[in-house]
Amino acid sequence: MKNDIRQVRNIGISAHIDSGKTTLTERILFYTKRIHAMHDVKGKDGVGATMDSMELERERGITISSAATFCTWKNHEINIIDTPGHVDFTIEVERALRVLDGAILVLCAVGGVQSQSITVDAQMKRYKVPCVAFINKCDRSGANPTRVVEQLRTRLGHSAILMQLPIGLEADFQGVVDLISLKAYYFDGAGGEIVREEAVPDALLDEATGRREELIDAVSLFSDSLTEAVLEGAEISPEMIRDAVRQGTLERKITPVFVGSAYKNKGVQLLLDAVTQYLSCPADVENTALDLAKEEAPVRLTSNPDDPVVALAFKLEDGHYGQLTYIRVYQGTLTRGETVLNARDGKKVRIGRLVRMHADQMEDIESIPAGYIGALFGLECQSGDTFVAPGLNVAMTSMFVPEPVISLA
Ligand code: GDP
Repeated sequence: MKNDIRQVRNIGISAHIDSGKTTLTERILFYTKRIHAMHDVKGKDGVGATMDSMELERERGITISSAATFCTWKNHEINIIDTPGHVDFTIEVERALRVLDGAILVLCAVGGVQSQSITVDAQMKRYKVPCVAFINKCDRSGANPTRVVEQLRTRLGHSAILMQLPIGLEADFQGVVDLISLKAYYFDGAGGEIVREEAVPDALLDEATGRREELIDAVSLFSDSLTEAVLEGAEISPEMIRDAVRQGTLERKITPVFVGSAYKNKGVQLLLDAVTQYLSCPADVENTALDLAKEEAPVRLTSNPDDPVVALAFKLEDGHYGQLTYIRVYQGTLTRGETVLNARDGKKVRIGRLVRMHADQMEDIESIPAGYIGALFGLECQSGDTFVAPGLNVAMTSMFVPEPVISLA
């Protein structure tokens, strides 16, 4: 593990069924080299394969169905946490959302905002998760990303900001204009090779320039230096705009919107860049625990790896490898061999084998520092249990409140 918390992203991918969440997840794992082949690309099944199809299927199945999978992109460690798209706010959904620092909201360019998009959006809002939106299926007939951006505004109340202009749509969807740098990116090749970068085509130049101004207008309030540059007519660097977009996203005041087609391998790499550029790292998020000695008064956690440890078991998985407990460390460092307390019953627990998911293999690790996610073998506990350093009397989840089950249906 890198031990640089600024380069960690704990994200979820939320979507209405059929918008392409599975396809997008798979493409992300392919580009970040966590799996070795993609599924479903017509005529190109198993692009880049070095394994036989049974092995690939197994690898893909295990990786995609995991409660948390990690991958790396441009020096960032991205943990993708499975977020069930249930209609109810069950305790299970609550815990999965709890450990997210950011999310990708996937929408279909044809279907737009659908019933389940409203549900998953409500969940994100309730847990104050900053998000970027990805308008998928821009290759489909009837694709209309502009309409989807409007729906994000009117139906979900997001201050949605288009970050890219599609170049062509439906069968002619070829690439995007990045509205910050005013560069055109074309997506070449079925295997998702690195995109080709060119000048903005003449036909799109006016629209792109106008949209860039709208973008700057919309985000300048999140950055003093950008506001100043706008007022003084000084040069505006891409970095200034990106910083403002990042700040607005972290404050959950804006939702940057990206376009693409996961199935056709278009736009996914730029979306990964956006995850690293705009979504929060664990240190950006204020986390609190409950002080069990003081009627569960909130206590602020530090995200400092050297402070006493506080970690939440957010999912138990009885699967391929036996029983695994997925855990997120909020403060301090959880280390193999150490003894911690289960805050629920005060019992001592010795930390045994620590791992993290690495495609279909496990990687043994020595410790999990604050901000990171990992899994434990052979731990007797319940989902929602908090593990703390001896001497601490805090928990991440309440000991008293019954399970909140609020139906949105
Ligand atoms: P999920 O239910 O959100 O996980 O959606 P899936 O990833 O299973 O995708 C649903 C269907 O849409 C599948 O048949 C995919 O092949 C297809 N699909 C996913 N992404 C795209 C895309 O970008 N373009 C098109 N045309 N089809 C897509």
